[in-house]
Amino acid sequence: MDNQFTYCMPTKVCFGAGIAKKAADYIDGENVLIISDPFLYQNGTAQAIGDCMTGKKVAYFSEIEPNPSCESVDKAAALAREIKADCVIGLGGGSSMDVSKIVSCLTTNDGSIYDYYAGGTRTLGKRTTTLICIPTTAGTGSEVTNVGVFTNKKAGIKMPMVNQQFWPDYAVIDGELTYTLPPAVTASTGMDAFCHAIEAYWNKESLPICDMLAMGALKLILANIKKAYDCPTDKEARGNMILASLIAGIAFSQTRTTGIHALSFPLTTEFGASHGTACSITLPAFIKISSEGRPEKMAELARYLGFEDVQALAEGVEALMVSMKMPVRLHELGVKESDLEHITKVGLGAAIIQLTPAVMNEETVYALLKSIL
Ligand code: NAD
Repeated sequence: MDNQFTYCMPTKVCFGAGIAKKAADYIDGENVLIISDPFLYQNGTAQAIGDCMTGKKVAYFSEIEPNPSCESVDKAAALAREIKADCVIGLGGGSSMDVSKIVSCLTTNDGSIYDYYAGGTRTLGKRTTTLICIPTTAGTGSEVTNVGVFTNKKAGIKMPMVNQQFWPDYAVIDGELTYTLPPAVTASTGMDAFCHAIEAYWNKESLPICDMLAMGALKLILANIKKAYDCPTDKEARGNMILASLIAGIAFSQTRTTGIHALSFPLTTEFGASHGTACSITLPAFIKISSEGRPEKMAELARYLGFEDVQALAEGVEALMVSMKMPVRLHELGVKESDLEHITKVGLGAAIIQLTPAVMNEETVYALLKSIL
């Protein structure tokens, strides 16, 4: 092994069942904003964590929608400024955690998210507000990435924003928070984590450290996702799934993702698929073509995961998805043959698609989509 590489994941990770109630230990200041979604507010999760913050003034912003919009970011930022937040906590799935990242910056950077993102020309200055991310889905790994994904309603597109200020100071990871996930969300978010791991592994910019993390995460997901799907309160399966999601997040935080994520953006914004579904629907097809650029590495992965070869891995993953009632053909999302050209074009517009270990152009991407129509 003589390749040069750099690796940096600066977030402090705190892991364990029940640990979310100790999040106050990581906060110096007095004013805390907890950003979450309507479900987590209504079922009492947000308040249960806020109530443990003795001596702090806790405010709640609980309007985050899936695939969060820039408008929601600006509303949450207005509240963070009003309460002079010393600490912003993103509690939820990727949507709430992503919003918390930019809001923690907007407390000390004036203006709107649109000034810094989607054509905005301003640069975010150094963040001074503490940022804590607490995942409640086992999927995105956003708690350990410097990425936020936002929907620009003005342009009708969903786009990632990468910024060094977005690394959370603390990732507080508590499997108990995922016991309430319905089976369909367990499946789609868990397969999102699978995509992160495998995209880090086959990535043209893969790193040895991340390969090993990715292999471990993939094995954990295959061993636990169906158990968590079938039995939502299986403590061990839930703990293993949120650990796998964390590890997969660390892996792709260094490499970025590939074609799966590039094609997921139009499938979410234009066909309403959840993020995890939009990613995993192309996963078996991408596994099949990944051998093109990574024949030995993918064969080794397939064997490590207990499959005879890459084709068998692709079939096994698809069978797992079917067993969790996940869509595996694009027409199940309402996609028609006449839509494929457009999806191809939008996918090719995302630079990460070229990190896929196979030729990605109008012809090959169209053919991949057609094969799973
Ligand atoms: P989400 O945050 O959009 O939540 C999906 C649904 O699950 C919501 O209705 C929410 O209320 C519900 N939910 C969340 N936790 C729950 C719980 N414990 N019990 C019951 N219901 C619960 O979903 P997600 O898949 O976690 O996040 C997707 C978003 O994250 C997308 O916008 C995606 O682009 C982004 N993302 C970001 C990164 C990153 O590195 N920043 C990585 C991957 C995905």
